[in-house]
Amino acid sequence: MTKSGKFINKWMKRTRMLFRLFMFKIGLDKRPVFAVLTVNAQCNFKCKYCFADYHKKVEKPLSTEQIFHIIDELDDYGVIYLNVHGGEALIRKDIGRIIDYGLGKKMFVNLITNGRFLKEKWDEVRNIDSMCISLDGREENNDKNRGEGTFKIATEAIDFALSKGATVRIGMTITHHTKDDLEWLAEWAKKRNIYIHHYLLFDQDNLSEDLRMTREENNEALRKLIELKKRGYPVFYSLRTLEYALNWPFEKLILRKNDLKDLNRPENFQFITCNYKTINVLVESNGTLRVCNATVRQGTHISILDKPLRKAKAELLDVDDCMYCYHLPKMEFSNLIDLRFEPVMNQFANQLKEDIKALFAKVKQG
Ligand code: SF4
Repeated sequence: MTKSGKFINKWMKRTRMLFRLFMFKIGLDKRPVFAVLTVNAQCNFKCKYCFADYHKKVEKPLSTEQIFHIIDELDDYGVIYLNVHGGEALIRKDIGRIIDYGLGKKMFVNLITNGRFLKEKWDEVRNIDSMCISLDGREENNDKNRGEGTFKIATEAIDFALSKGATVRIGMTITHHTKDDLEWLAEWAKKRNIYIHHYLLFDQDNLSEDLRMTREENNEALRKLIELKKRGYPVFYSLRTLEYALNWPFEKLILRKNDLKDLNRPENFQFITCNYKTINVLVESNGTLRVCNATVRQGTHISILDKPLRKAKAELLDVDDCMYCYHLPKMEFSNLIDLRFEPVMNQFANQLKEDIKALFAKVKQG
């Protein structure tokens, strides 16, 4: 495909997604638009905050045929955006075939990676629509979160992908070690003209104490992100999402139906309804569905290896009573689905900017 053809193709997919969000919002089409497909549980890093302890998991990965079958089912169900996740997805020998299979279904395919194998696997993944590479801050602080040498690996992978004209974002997890690196990383990303997705830690029972953030530290980080965004730094999430998290008045970060009974909700705080669990399908590496990765350590799960995905999703939504939460990426989704003006315009402007940049990089590359 030509460079401009790729650009047009991506925007056709984005337009389809926007149309489906509109249909979802007005209630005419409630099918999922997005999917997170966890293709393996193996990982070559040992990030201290890993919510699923992937580096400790011993699990037989799904076969290529099983993954293709899941993608077929996602496609039949109406999913347009496929987020390819791990473990570390690039460890899979068939990762190029998986990505091409999703692209062949006219899905928008995004890859989440730590970057370690990107260079050697580039020819296999070069057709990807976008990728997100994890990087948490300055070298000494990033490496406290993710392990020695991981800063070098991630920064080299980002620069390599950019040199190839890929659409790249940074995924930054904010921990006690990296909370003071927000401006530093924003500056680093701005120089490269790329956006950062910021993640706050989940409420995890496996989290080591040195990483934990107090609520005030989280709030300080959110205030800093709002300030950086207003100053024109490449913070991906909308102000509405960041402010919602900043104003979250509850001790618990996730509220289930039961939690609402005696909840003391301040009058001026309005919940954002979670649409994420409906509009997204999360498939785990062992072939189970969950509503969301924020609930990996506590929520319900249903296998799709022995029943149709649609049926499993409907059953899951019936039994999982997760209602509201504090998590930035999920709330960003919910704001988009609600077709809120500022989040939609923010998303549109960010994506247009990244795709035009990638187009020029590819043209320059020849
Ligand atoms: S409220 Fe929705 S987005 Fe938040 S943790 Fe629950 S399912 Fe996930």
